[in-house]
Amino acid sequence: MAGERLVIVDRDGVINEDSIDYIKSVAEWRPIPGSLEAIALLSNAGWSVAVVTNQSGVARGLFDEATLAAIHRHMNDRVYAAGGALAGIYYCPHLPDAGCECRKPRPGMLRALERELGISVRGAPFVGDRLSDIDAAEAVGAKPILVRTGTGAATEAMLGGRVPVFDDLQAVAKSLLTEG
Ligand SMILES: [Mg+2]
Ligand SMILES: [Zn+2]
Repeated sequence: MAGERLVIVDRDGVINEDSIDYIKSVAEWRPIPGSLEAIALLSNAGWSVAVVTNQSGVARGLFDEATLAAIHRHMNDRVYAAGGALAGIYYCPHLPDAGCECRKPRPGMLRALERELGISVRGAPFVGDRLSDIDAAEAVGAKPILVRTGTGAATEAMLGGRVPVFDDLQAVAKSLLTEG
């Protein structure tokens, strides 16, 4: 839809604390300080906020899709309680070597988002903490933004100035709002 503003946000390491042991339950899902407020800031300024997340823990048998759905209901509830809203949550449950179309950096989830929300991802800011987020953004003409939360600091060291970098999602939200 022309004029509609979309921001794409990775989940682990951007909205919630990441873990090398995966986020396997609602109890393990802990928001990064300020991230829920950042989503609320964007929602209230008229941005559609969509989450795009790789969740290979499903295929690894670490948690099932019902648990993932419960985690995402919880995330939705917490965002709503903070005064914001999520336009959609897209996830890839497959293993890295499954050859699926959805696992970032491949574009499947972004194409699904476009179909379901009726918004183009071209030019939309895509906030992530990993190279796969940046590569996914670049593959579809979205605008990659790196945050230093999660594994973002390590990604920043690797990328050396290729993309804009912010401390966290809150800093990104404030910047997007001042851009107009
Ligand atoms: Mg991440
Ligand atoms: Zn997939």
